[in-house]
Amino acid sequence: MHDDVELLRTAADHALRFAATIDARDATPTPEAVDALVRFDEPLPDEPTDATVTIDLLATVGGPAAMGSAGPRYFGFVNGATLPVALGAAFLADAWDQNAALPVMSPVAARLYEVSRRWLLDLFGLSPAADVAYVSGATVANASCLAAARDALLAEHGWDAPTQGLYGAPEVRVVVGAQAHSTLRKSLGVIGLGSERVITVPADDQGRLVAADLPDLDPADGPIVVCAQAGEVNTGAFDPFDDIADWAEARSAWLHVDGAFGLWALADPSRAHLVEGLRRADSLATDAHKWLNVTYDSGIAVVQREGALRRTFASVAGYLPPEHGFEAMHHTPQSSQRARQIEVWAVLRTLGRRGVGELVSRACDAATVIADRLRAEPDFRVLNEVVLNQVLIRFRDPASIARLVDAIQRDGRIWCGPTTWQGETAMRISVSSWKTTPDDATRAADVIVALARELD
Ligand SMILES: *Cc1c(COP(=O)(O)O)cnc(C)c1O
Repeated sequence: MHDDVELLRTAADHALRFAATIDARDATPTPEAVDALVRFDEPLPDEPTDATVTIDLLATVGGPAAMGSAGPRYFGFVNGATLPVALGAAFLADAWDQNAALPVMSPVAARLYEVSRRWLLDLFGLSPAADVAYVSGATVANASCLAAARDALLAEHGWDAPTQGLYGAPEVRVVVGAQAHSTLRKSLGVIGLGSERVITVPADDQGRLVAADLPDLDPADGPIVVCAQAGEVNTGAFDPFDDIADWAEARSAWLHVDGAFGLWALADPSRAHLVEGLRRADSLATDAHKWLNVTYDSGIAVVQREGALRRTFASVAGYLPPEHGFEAMHHTPQSSQRARQIEVWAVLRTLGRRGVGELVSRACDAATVIADRLRAEPDFRVLNEVVLNQVLIRFRDPASIARLVDAIQRDGRIWCGPTTWQGETAMRISVSSWKTTPDDATRAADVIVALARELD
């Protein structure tokens, strides 16, 4: 037992050293650190070895090669860092190793599920009766919501999809915006609605679905699902939810919103203009591992139509004890699952309503700092209205952008990546870390400008 505790102390010491030095680290590991990863390429050992050696190897080879995404100057994808309280709660939750599938397996997971559900719905201003399910990310949250939509709508047409599948079912028509996230289509494919078998509505120059171009579908021809988006992944733009919700209501359609990062704008009163009508959605998907800054993997599905998640995900087996309370395995694609609610609870408990709002507005302010600084440079163009945390940048011509992104990634002090916007290469900066201060934002913009000048 003493050795076990010593081993954990060793691991914790390594973790704490990493956490304590993250601010000073570059966003990108050095090429030497990445090359050193070959040390992991050993044959499978035949015999057991000292666990401390394994932990030390992991820390000394793996740690230096870790991306600095937990730090203040990583602007890639929409990744998010980790709040200390989330990491601390993760330490404890990992030690507890609770299975959150059923309340009987973990009373603490069950209680924190219910508290975090109530708090999230309060924070978002959604129905207090809505179902909340913790899943691995927004891809699975989208798939879970859309599967619930599919089954609820087909049930209204007298078809039981969970038992009968989709062969011979009334056709479910799915409407998406042209700038829907690539993984939303993947989710549609996974649940049998088809990633390409959708009606695509044009988007405007910010990537917002153009509501006036929604098709004139007849509800008499079968069920309709419409997918809107809170936070386009390049521009951060929000769809016009009220118009889309009106269209959906007139057709008894199910309105789903992919808000992988954008949904957190609901917590920031200064962004109320973006989220008008958003709360009318039947279902909403988001990530906690992005903007709420908890560890991976953590997604959230919210369904405001009662019983819909359970219709889709209930699994019936004779040995299961009768239950009271929320049974996660009957509301998610998973059965056994880690208790993701523990970190969500810890962050909400610590930041409070105001703190989450500030987490959002701080990142948006930093994005504005970067955008303003680059706008002042003749060679740069900011392509989007910076309404949230995303900045989309054009630099001279497509070849120059590719060279600049490459130079930034090789330099390593900050990290951001390329994207394609309206058919052309652009550079995307996402501020999703709680650590990014206005000063970090200024320094990041200075790095970009300095590297751009060196390209001449
Ligand atoms: C990141 C993202 C997703 C996918 O989320 P994962 O957590 O990676 O599964 C879906 N939609 C949008 C808008 C995103 O930004």
